[in-house]
Amino acid sequence: MEKVIPINTSQNAVKSAADRPPKNQLSHQLISDKNQLRLHQKLQGSLDLGSLINHFFVWLSEQQPLGSVEYVYPDEDISLLSGSLRVHQAHYTLRLQKRYLGELAISSQKRFSEQDLFVHEQSIGCLAHYLKNALDFRAMEKMAFYDALTGVMNRKSLDELLPKETKRAERHGYDLSVMMIDIDNFKIINDQVGHIGGDQILKHASKAIRQVLRISDLPFRFGGDEFVLILPNTDLVGARSAAKQIMSSLGNTAVEINNHSITPRVSIGLASYRHGEHHEELIRRSDQALYDAKKNGRNCIC
Ligand code: GH3
Ligand code: MG
Repeated sequence: MEKVIPINTSQNAVKSAADRPPKNQLSHQLISDKNQLRLHQKLQGSLDLGSLINHFFVWLSEQQPLGSVEYVYPDEDISLLSGSLRVHQAHYTLRLQKRYLGELAISSQKRFSEQDLFVHEQSIGCLAHYLKNALDFRAMEKMAFYDALTGVMNRKSLDELLPKETKRAERHGYDLSVMMIDIDNFKIINDQVGHIGGDQILKHASKAIRQVLRISDLPFRFGGDEFVLILPNTDLVGARSAAKQIMSSLGNTAVEINNHSITPRVSIGLASYRHGEHHEELIRRSDQALYDAKKNGRNCIC
């Protein structure tokens, strides 16, 4: 841990290191070995950021009056809160060997004492190591299951989730549809704006697709310029309506790249789950529908 830097407290209670009494005078105030061990025991079981913050909150509330612990990692839009925000706050920027690990805010109804703030600094020093491992694990998971270019899940995730989703639909008897989307004449787009420009179009398309989706819908990059959506609780009529929205969302916005104005069009194939059907057959039927859409002149839904 390089240093936990208190960046701001609402009560102005943090003093610089030089202001503090020598460490031996504070020794009775610092965390006991037993308590430190308990903190490690609480944190070491998890690689999940939410669980880490919850465990840290529980441990810290045993040490001092506490309202909340809030952890924010802006780069990944992570914002986690344990407890209820209170008026007095201490803010910390977390760094470990120069690596930025996010921001931590601790709040309390009562003003923090000097001793409270020392406990924060010591315990955050420990928490930071576990947060780093959890962030690394998250990044690895993301690499394994998400497409780096578009941010949607990859083919491997589809292979894992489609059988589960079809089984769930079978068990609970609800509708499920699969949508296969392929950009029309993407080779020509690549020729016009280059491969990097083509990548921008893929990102734009995935964003337009995600904007239309419900929270339970699952988007995947199937490969190349092809996306697959699993739409739980959606029959063919609902899937068609979602497909129309995607087409109109894409049709309404042009992307400017290298003096070219590109409005990507897509062809879409739909298939709804049939009772007892194997998930591979469901994908095959949506692929066939996409093929039909291409054959019908592209820029259409089949
Ligand atoms: P169609 O209308 O029949 O779909 O024609 P198409 O030109 O889109 O042909 P197809 O879907 O078969 O081709 C996909 C192209 O996408 C081929 C490949 O060069 C390009 N491609 C695949 N992956 C990427 C990528 O990650 N980035 C970019 N820029 N291009 C890619
Ligand atoms: Mg294509």
